[in-house]
Amino acid sequence: MTATIIEHGTLICHRQGRPVVLEGQTVEIEAGQITSIYPSSERSKRRNSDAAQVHVVDGSNHLIIPGLINTHHHLYQSLTRGLICVQDAPLFEWLRQLYQRWKRIDYEAVKAAAQISIAELQLSGCTTTSDHFYLFPQGSDARIEAVLDAAETMGMRIHACRGSMSVGESKGGLPPDVCTQSEADILKDCQRALERFHDPSPGAMRRIDLAPCSPFSVSPELLRDTAVLARERGALLHTHAAETADEERYCLDRFKMRPIEWLEKMQWLGPDVYLAHCVHLDEKDIRRLADTNTGIAHCPCSNMRLGSGIAPVRALLDADARVGLGVDGSSSNDGGNLLAEARQALLLQRVSQGAEVLSVAEAFTLATLGSAAVLNRPWLGNIESGCVADLAMFRRDDIALAGAIEQDPLGALMLCHVGRADRVLINGRTVVEDGQISTIDLPTLVERFNRLVRDVFRE
Ligand SMILES: [Zn+2]
Repeated sequence: MTATIIEHGTLICHRQGRPVVLEGQTVEIEAGQITSIYPSSERSKRRNSDAAQVHVVDGSNHLIIPGLINTHHHLYQSLTRGLICVQDAPLFEWLRQLYQRWKRIDYEAVKAAAQISIAELQLSGCTTTSDHFYLFPQGSDARIEAVLDAAETMGMRIHACRGSMSVGESKGGLPPDVCTQSEADILKDCQRALERFHDPSPGAMRRIDLAPCSPFSVSPELLRDTAVLARERGALLHTHAAETADEERYCLDRFKMRPIEWLEKMQWLGPDVYLAHCVHLDEKDIRRLADTNTGIAHCPCSNMRLGSGIAPVRALLDADARVGLGVDGSSSNDGGNLLAEARQALLLQRVSQGAEVLSVAEAFTLATLGSAAVLNRPWLGNIESGCVADLAMFRRDDIALAGAIEQDPLGALMLCHVGRADRVLINGRTVVEDGQISTIDLPTLVERFNRLVRDVFRE
């Protein structure tokens, strides 16, 4: 067995519930797990590993943080980012235009897009992502294996959400009918995905969550039946909720309730549920989300890009709700940089309520322990013995950190605009080395991907 020992690093991790900076530390890794952490000056008497092969990494020029965790994405959407006709559109118009392109997806397009999106995430220091994949056009061979395949080739830890849409335009929903499936087909495939791919173990690389797309694209029956199935199998539930004022109007018109009330009626609040966005909340919604321990995936860039609004993150944290971060799909961000997303979360809250509303430490926590809590993954989001070996290492001499690194390493990472991680480990495996993806030939993939977009997904 091979062990990895990272020496002389500056760790930014959590101790007693708050971020701390620990200089000159050694991290020992074996079998995908962090086995011990101690001052590098004590290495001669503290080295624990008796592995046959030991790979030693010099971390003296690095800040080392827990791998960042992304709680909401649509990996396939890199196929349609930057599309001219939706550059200035709000959510419902944006969706109507994009459905027309998305109905062209197939297995290979989804896999290539997922690889592109995962590469971007990893280069920003992200090691776990949720992917909300809800598009299974009639006649297409697209299926959840395309996403799982991409994640596996790139060593990414994933919560692959088997999404769904069952209410098309002919039934008063938003998507074209060709992008929807019957409830029976959806539930059958959800069951299949859970049976074949869901790994409930604490250090799982692959979990399946169930994820009807939104209140305006699925039936009440599908919401209820999906919740029953997920709870039978111990899987998480995920959907979009309270994202825009249009969605709120849709729910009030159709269900005579606000989105969060509607979800509660459908048995869709609780510790096994996480909701993307939660922008348009009143005080009662916030209390219900906190009291039911429902997770929230905050997506600041997407909310700004689509003009959806500012999520009440401060009020949610004050109510003790579980809040994590998500970049959302690449058609509404249009990038997958989780470190930049944490910075945006910080800045956006301050726009609405002043500089003291969200601290640097809280923004870091959202992207690490906060997101781990949203995905119910207690062994993710920190650097300590027993945690999975998911680490992101940033060069101390990165131009973006110059000067700031001498003031405060944590503040430097959160406030400066750092480009790329230099090295990223997931489950102990190196997936980024010297600032480059090491699992696939990225330049060749990008060339092939651009050709695909030009031929099939361009206007
Ligand atoms: Zn989304």
